[in-house]
Amino acid sequence: MYYAARLKQENDCNGCRICITSCPEGNAIRLLVGPDGEKKVEVLARRCKGCELCVELCPRDSLESVLR
Ligand code: SF4
Ligand code: SF4
Repeated sequence: MYYAARLKQENDCNGCRICITSCPEGNAIRLLVGPDGEKKVEVLARRCKGCELCVELCPRDSLESVLR
């Protein structure tokens, strides 16, 4: 059991990338672009160390830390 960040089910992510560029693990979050151009992020739980920096820095309060 460990903590990892994830995108909230109800979120307002606009793909600003602040979480991606601030993550100390470098490749734990990736940007997904849908067919309609909509941008969302995905946290790769195995690479996330649960530091919660992205959760704190997201300007749209779209990330949460959960027990995996
Ligand atoms: S910081 Fe928040 S709004 Fe910006 S890409 Fe990450 S989850 Fe989306
Ligand atoms: S909780 Fe920390 S390690 Fe995990 S994705 Fe967010 S910034 Fe990266």
